[in-house]
Amino acid sequence: CGIIGYTGGRSHAPDDGDVLDVLMTGLSGLEYRGYDSAGVALADSSLSVHKRQGEVSALEDALPDGSVGGRAGIGHTRWSTHGPPSDANAHPHTDCTGTVAVVHNGIIENYQVLREELETAGHTFESETDTEVIPHLIEDALEAGADRESAFRRAVNQLEGSYAVAAVFCESETVYAARHESPLVLGIGEDGHYLASDVPAFIEYTDRVIYLDDGEFATVSPSGVVVTDDEGTVVETSIETIEWDP
Ligand code: GLU
Repeated sequence: CGIIGYTGGRSHAPDDGDVLDVLMTGLSGLEYRGYDSAGVALADSSLSVHKRQGEVSALEDALPDGSVGGRAGIGHTRWSTHGPPSDANAHPHTDCTGTVAVVHNGIIENYQVLREELETAGHTFESETDTEVIPHLIEDALEAGADRESAFRRAVNQLEGSYAVAAVFCESETVYAARHESPLVLGIGEDGHYLASDVPAFIEYTDRVIYLDDGEFATVSPSGVVVTDDEGTVVETSIETIEWDP
């Protein structure tokens, strides 16, 4: 029931594994929200996805020895609504080609119709979640020639229900996010940028935040964040400095 995303300076620092550290710290900071599974995806020349039913510590134990490098990443704690708690149903979810990984909080009301259409078009599903339609919708849009940002936007605009959603793509250091009736907040750091369901996920790195409104999209890259509406028009945002007693 929580999302963390990160991209930025730390990913260029010599220490491999820094992005993973930020994600794991973020997941620990979201544990209070309740969850049954946890997972992360790191984007580099390919995606590395690690996910487990159970506690964040179970995910930690399941991570490979040595570092998991990445230029950007997303993490998730799941509170199951569609499909029981299991490793396969844990987020992130990916498309068939391993190009995009997605995390989602909320419920996609029209996932059955979307899933049937996607399966008819040849997509293979690996979970019972409502969420998994999102990476496949993105894959479809990419194959139709859309760039990453418009593929993400096109997929999200087909969803009905409630969502906070974030995606990373292989060979990209940008994190794409959107929300509708589920919380999402951006963190503006010195050395990178964050997004999360709630501030405790990144408060140890930054207290400068932008709260997203319903229907807004965010493109979070190492050089900055851009917030747009559902049609892609840039929205003016203001950065708040919050007071937080961890
Ligand atoms: N509906 C999604 C699932 O069951 C997301 C649940 C959540 O908010 O964690 O996997």
